[in-house]
Amino acid sequence: MNILVTGGAGYVGSHVVEELLKTGDHRVVILDNLQKGHRESLLGGEFIEGDLADTSLLYRIFAQHDIEAVVHMAADSLVGESVQHPDKYFHNNVTNGLNLLNAMVRHSARYIVFSSTAAVYGEPIATPITEEHPQAPTNPYGESKLFFERIMARYDHAYGLRHISLRYFNAAGASPSGKIGEDHRPETHLIPIILEVALGQREHVTICGTDYDTPDGTCVRDYIHVADLAAAHLLALEALAEGAASSVYNLGNGEGFSVREVIDMVEKVVGKPIAREEGERRPGDPAVLVASSQRIIQELGWRPKYHDLETIVETAWFWHKEHPQGFGS
Ligand code: UDP
Repeated sequence: MNILVTGGAGYVGSHVVEELLKTGDHRVVILDNLQKGHRESLLGGEFIEGDLADTSLLYRIFAQHDIEAVVHMAADSLVGESVQHPDKYFHNNVTNGLNLLNAMVRHSARYIVFSSTAAVYGEPIATPITEEHPQAPTNPYGESKLFFERIMARYDHAYGLRHISLRYFNAAGASPSGKIGEDHRPETHLIPIILEVALGQREHVTICGTDYDTPDGTCVRDYIHVADLAAAHLLALEALAEGAASSVYNLGNGEGFSVREVIDMVEKVVGKPIAREEGERRPGDPAVLVASSQRIIQELGWRPKYHDLETIVETAWFWHKEHPQGFGS
């Protein structure tokens, strides 16, 4: 199959590209503007540097590469930033995403796997969160992803463009191949920040809020290994290729860990104490986000291989130790 991967040079994107290439069955074209992605994270495929805002580029890519399917991951994805700059989030995640959908319709591409998020749910009223849980995002990031899910549903109804939305909980860890990992500039994510403390690159990790209604007062999240996440994209593509109807799936391990528990786990894995400081809440953060992933387990046969937090942290630590300056190492 000829597959276009948008945002394929990003953290999750590069792991999805690795997974697609491993099958040997697909021709993979990667579109990334490299604002956050890294050219070095790509282990193969054909790379095109460009932006979803560039509609003529999009139309050329679909025509020249005879694209049949899309994995759409190009987006802005920081909760806090989205609260400060909603314009950026609605523009990049919704308006530019529409350019992609319109190019797909114009060129009769058949289906799309979309990188969505647990942030579509907002503050949960029931845990673990199933796909039926009410969707009431508490930040523009989650809202932009929810809008796009709804737009895709309309495009399916009107134009027959089938989609699977994958609502990621907290992607973490690094490829078991050791070749790629997480490298954001600046880093804002919890596990890589703690690993930077372990490497002596930061003095401490700040715990964002200690007065949440959780057992230890800090936010609880469901961490999922990036390779398990990547494998789900392949399953979703295969299901769509076999004629599956549009659908939405949660992706998490069904177990929540508080910020303090994650720091403790990193201490255990790296074998040294991690300096921590207590800070303010980060705007837009719900207290607890834990997934039920029963639907994708039952319907697509998804089986996470690296579900325990210790393994997730070990793979992240392995990559960070080997690449202390990220992809620039
Ligand atoms: N967090 C924290 N300190 C940091 C970065 C993150 O306490 O320096 C918390 C954050 O408030 C959230 C959790 O760690 O509750 C996971 O945040 P991350 O940014 O990794 O992922 P997100 O939940 O935003 O997708």
